[in-house]
Amino acid sequence: MRYIDHHAHMASRTTDDYAQMALTGCVAVTEPAFWAGWDRSSPEGFDDYFRQLMEFEPKRAAAAGMQHYTWLGMNPKESDNREMSIEVLRRIPALLPGPTVLGIGEIGLNRVTTNEITTYTEQVALAAEHGQLVLIHTPHLEDKLKGTRITLDVLRQFPALPAGHVLVDHAEEHTVEAILDGGFWAGLTLYPQTKVSAPRAVDMIEKYGPERLLVAGACDWGPSEPLAVPKFIAEMRRRRHSEALIHRVVFENPVQFLGQSPKFRLPAGVTAAAATQAG
Ligand SMILES: [Zn+2]
Repeated sequence: MRYIDHHAHMASRTTDDYAQMALTGCVAVTEPAFWAGWDRSSPEGFDDYFRQLMEFEPKRAAAAGMQHYTWLGMNPKESDNREMSIEVLRRIPALLPGPTVLGIGEIGLNRVTTNEITTYTEQVALAAEHGQLVLIHTPHLEDKLKGTRITLDVLRQFPALPAGHVLVDHAEEHTVEAILDGGFWAGLTLYPQTKVSAPRAVDMIEKYGPERLLVAGACDWGPSEPLAVPKFIAEMRRRRHSEALIHRVVFENPVQFLGQSPKFRLPAGVTAAAATQAG
């Protein structure tokens, strides 16, 4: 079955991972800008990283027969550094017209500090001003509930930014309802050890239905699984969900969300309906 992984940090991944994803039906990935695992020493480090996301990764994806789109922004972890954040945000508007840039992301909160909230709010304002889609990281573990609440409160301060243009990612059982109730999209990122597993994601689809829910594999530099979405598909099939429902979650939903950017295009010859037939 064709699928799209909307949250894949392919810069952390090998060419073999691209090949495996293509072999399991992945036709497009979208890559949010994130923390490298170490803090960059200067704003110029972000110039190079954004160039990698906009120029190099699309070529690697194309070699595997996949599309690659990206999101630009100051990641939650380094957003606590205000001096650096101001410099990085200053650079972003000039890059937004890039042909594969879908919007601002991943932005949001890590430890829910005052600095992080300031940088996050500025990036939401930037997205509203430039009519961009937004991809948001919510904090992990003990900070998730409080962080998600503040994340949503800030979004409500920007009526110019339609709720349907915002994806609040890393949702879990105790945060998904508030995200969906706000009219936002909720992302379930699947991890082999921590965070949401495939069975837990399927539980949430069963409880809330497929409307405005997305699943992704994250593919970051830590323990994570490039084939998380196909494993989610296998779990859905094991529970005897229909192919139409599975296809809705892994293909039609991301097309609907990402397609709000005029830059997002389905691969040549693929339509959402035709892809259903192709199975
Ligand atoms: Zn991420």
